[in-house]
Amino acid sequence: MERAAAEPHFVLVPWQGTISHIIPMTDIGRLLACHGAAVTIITTPANAPLVQSRVEDLATPPHGAITVTAIPFPAAEAGLPDGCERLDLLRSPGDVPRFFAANKQFGEAVARYCRGSEAMLRLRRRPSCVVAGMCHSWALGLGRELGVPCYVFHGFGAFALLCIEYLYKHRPHEAVSSADELVNIPALPAFECRVSRSQLPPHFAPSTTMGCGTMQEIREFDVAVDGVVVNSFDELEHGSCALLAEATGKNVVAVGPVSLFRSPHVDPQAMTGDARRVMEWLDTKESKSVVYVSFGSAGCMPPAQVMQLGMALASCRWPVVWVVKGADSMPDDVKKWFRESFDSNKCLVVRGWAPQVAILAHRAVGGFLTHCGWGSTLEAIAAGMPVATWPLFAEQFLNERLIVDVLGVGVSVGVTKPTENVLSAGKLNGSRADIEVEVGMEQVMKTLERLMDEGDEGEQRRRKAQELKTKANRALEKGGSSYMNLEKLIQSLVS
Ligand code: UDP
Repeated sequence: MERAAAEPHFVLVPWQGTISHIIPMTDIGRLLACHGAAVTIITTPANAPLVQSRVEDLATPPHGAITVTAIPFPAAEAGLPDGCERLDLLRSPGDVPRFFAANKQFGEAVARYCRGSEAMLRLRRRPSCVVAGMCHSWALGLGRELGVPCYVFHGFGAFALLCIEYLYKHRPHEAVSSADELVNIPALPAFECRVSRSQLPPHFAPSTTMGCGTMQEIREFDVAVDGVVVNSFDELEHGSCALLAEATGKNVVAVGPVSLFRSPHVDPQAMTGDARRVMEWLDTKESKSVVYVSFGSAGCMPPAQVMQLGMALASCRWPVVWVVKGADSMPDDVKKWFRESFDSNKCLVVRGWAPQVAILAHRAVGGFLTHCGWGSTLEAIAAGMPVATWPLFAEQFLNERLIVDVLGVGVSVGVTKPTENVLSAGKLNGSRADIEVEVGMEQVMKTLERLMDEGDEGEQRRRKAQELKTKANRALEKGGSSYMNLEKLIQSLVS
């Protein structure tokens, strides 16, 4: 939809800590541009090629003015290696505070740019709205200085955000004495949601590598922003968007699933050689016969746990695509085991970047074993794909409850303890040998049997997943809820 030049100008600054934030925020930029708004996406040099590749994808609908700007990230000034512009590139958990210090300086550079760079002047318009990633707490000052609304994008779903809001306000976790004890989070009236204290998001952990000060700033940013942009759709999370708006008093704008606005067959990440290899492998398999296994953009497990999972995948009844991150930093004996254990016709191990959206849309894939990151969760929903849930950390245990108990499209592997990650306390990769294995090979096999079950239970999950896929597509179509939410957001800035 083309609009006149006086239409609003959105400045989007994705949180550059993880690729999983950059992907949906770039796609939100593309969606806004499709609705006729001008968009500037500001990122760091190391992340700019990813943003640019998604913006330049000409096979997607026509777009208005969209500019990608790379502003240097002062990694070296903060004591980080040059080019260390994402959390997965850090050397150790000790680098986390340095990364957040560099991010503050990055914020100052973004503000200088927005105050009146030549590029902004060339666009002949001042920003009308700032949309910032969840850790860019400096963006509030920028919005206030420019006199425009500031929205936050967390990368979480509305249900998880609603639970987090409940936890901040009512603090039920403080009445629980042990990490294994269940915390009741009655955020949605019709559903019971209980997770153990150790499964809560890091906001409520006794300590994180980010430090209390940064956590506090992020919360203050959340409380002060004018609105929340969510990659979800109003019909999905049983009223969570409206309840979140009520609980926070903010404009909550669900604009997703953003992965759906481009055809999965032109997923920019599906164009590399490695990705083509996966797609060609899938072409040789029967419909709905393959299990796709992935733990997100950076999810790693301890080697002993990886091996239990691997043994289950090698011996289960279905062909498998398994995306493994951090394989290079595994001990040598595990690397050797990887090389020797898999028949590539039965289990295709992908060590690099998999074209996930294209894989989920492939007719051969019948189930997805996921870590329940919100991006993956929504991509599975958009593809009508039943899932097996293996949450690792962050808000993923809350997403598991939504998937299994509320939406009825998943079976739980039964993980009880979070896996350590860089933001909690553990090492950066899965190379810790001293961590106990929680999920044995048999448990994985049983879960996969349920996931791929051809009986009534499996059929019911598949039917529900297909219904959600239909609703997801409708939300983005002209007149659909996400389409209208984007229109309303743009209109609110015009008036
Ligand atoms: N992803 C991908 N290929 C990979 C790994 C991840 O395309 O090999 C994408 C995936 O499609 C999703 C994002 O990376 O868009 C992962 O986001 P999510 O919120 O699920 O997990 P996170 O990476 O934050 O743990």
